[in-house]
Amino acid sequence: MDKTFDVAVIGAGPGGYVAAIRCAQLGLDTVCIDDWKNEQGKPTLGGTCLNVGCIPSKALLESSENYARAGHKFAEHGIKLNALSVDVPTMIARKDKIVKAFTGGITMLFKKNKVTSLHGRGKLLKRDDGGNAWTIQVNNDGKESSILAKHVIIATGSSPRELSVAPVDNVKIFDSAGALALQEIPQRLAIIGAGVIGLELGSVWRRLGAEVTLLEAQSEFLPAVDEQVAKEALKSLTRETGLVIQTGAEIQSVTASQDSVDIEYTDREKNAQKLAVDKLIVAVGRVPNTDGLGVNEAGLKHDERGYIAVDEYCRTNLPDVYAVGDVVRGPMLAHKASEEGVAVAEWIASKRDGSPDATAKVDLGIIPWVIYTAPEIAWVGKTEQALKAEGIAYKAGQFPFMANGRARALGETTGFVKVLADAETDRILGVHMIGPYVSEMIAEAVVAMGFAASSEDLAHIVHAHPSLSEVLHEAALGVAKRALHI
Ligand code: FAD
Ligand code: NAD
Repeated sequence: MDKTFDVAVIGAGPGGYVAAIRCAQLGLDTVCIDDWKNEQGKPTLGGTCLNVGCIPSKALLESSENYARAGHKFAEHGIKLNALSVDVPTMIARKDKIVKAFTGGITMLFKKNKVTSLHGRGKLLKRDDGGNAWTIQVNNDGKESSILAKHVIIATGSSPRELSVAPVDNVKIFDSAGALALQEIPQRLAIIGAGVIGLELGSVWRRLGAEVTLLEAQSEFLPAVDEQVAKEALKSLTRETGLVIQTGAEIQSVTASQDSVDIEYTDREKNAQKLAVDKLIVAVGRVPNTDGLGVNEAGLKHDERGYIAVDEYCRTNLPDVYAVGDVVRGPMLAHKASEEGVAVAEWIASKRDGSPDATAKVDLGIIPWVIYTAPEIAWVGKTEQALKAEGIAYKAGQFPFMANGRARALGETTGFVKVLADAETDRILGVHMIGPYVSEMIAEAVVAMGFAASSEDLAHIVHAHPSLSEVLHEAALGVAKRALHI
């Protein structure tokens, strides 16, 4: 291509495709280069999130939760089902259909917004002699071409971290992508890593009937989560969901054979243990994708863990080169990636007009987190243990779902909401939830924190009755010791 684009985005996950759309909306001539191919070998947009992450995992979580409810919870409503059964291939096909609809949707959005879409692996080469544009080489299955762009947004995402002791073959030992495509329920399933993926995918296969054991290296369960929430989660996920969670486990060896996967590990007391399972999932974190991107050749700085180094505006050390999403610091979450993509697009466009936009920055302190287990876990802001460690004086208000009318009607009474507010100013510093549909409820807390609200502000707002949101309202009232229904 002879022309020079205003912006080239490398990667079409939620960071890259959203950045490309926003750039185009702001009048920038934009190209997006992505190398993802689906199981059928066809290029598809949407990156990890749409193809093998957020969307397919939530589809399976929903299907398996429906099955679990039908099996364990309908009876108390007086609903009787005979001969309940599950058809895994249909469940997987439904998930695949949802993925196809969404990935295809991005192709349509690119067309609508006139984003040029190129399939292939992008490599940052050099800035041309005049200093106006970067050359990016695109390798599409060995066929090379190059494009020129004034600005580059790197959004190459992340891949599963490999564990040398347990090499993934997606036959007996699976990564998270393979674990979303199992065609039958393993009788015995082990997962190395009791983090977000381990808990979500473990829940899927446990609800469908597998015996699931999670082997977690850290001695603490979910250390990034508020301690009280993590404790409640551990209790509920082991007692109610039936997951076996072993913390402090050190994997010694993994041997896959025709009949089983045999795992040798030491437990938290350092005793040698053996576990034989039918399938194993490895979910031990993700690593940023920078291989073949030309990082060293272009002189792009990265940190000691391999993340591309950026400032608060996602600017790299190279002029007009930005990086967003999983490939940079901060939580590896789709919404964080997308908002960084939008912020960079706004910044590039405003620079063009000579008026930098002060909003072109994402506040990493108020990114919501959700773990889609049952009960769900959601939080925003600081945990109680972080406030203590930082020596920040705070007040806490807490309210249980047990005392909420809507939760009782749903039959989902496990969990609570906790609001943490500054002891002096009352500004909300963190909100922590475990319970039904807290994935939806957390948004109110994020809005409140986004507007620097106090717990009193939240307490003054009228909440619909009966609704789960009343639990947050009561927790906010609880900060000033004025909760009404407890
Ligand atoms: P990615 O989505 O990884 O996209 C990067 C794209 O760039 C890919 O298409 C890749 O092939 C392409 N690429 C890489 N290098 C090159 C190159 N050199 N040239 C061209 N293309 C390249 N997050 C949530 O917020 N909520 C969830 O519920 C959630 N669930 C998840 C469940 C699972 C099982 C997994 C694995 C992840 C989940 N995540 C979730 C995390 C989420 O998927 C990521 O945070 C998100 O996809 C990151 O977006 P990204 O755009 O930075 O990168
Ligand atoms: P994670 O960091 O959440 O959990 C990985 C776990 O593996 C950790 O608890 C870690 O201590 C453990 N571990 C590491 N090495 C180990 C070893 N050798 N033996 C035993 N345990 C070991 O990572 P993940 O679960 O792989 O997920 C990756 C990221 O994807 C998440 O951090 C999150 O950012 C994103 N994600 C988000 C969602 C969501 O938003 N609902 C869902 C899935 C994934």
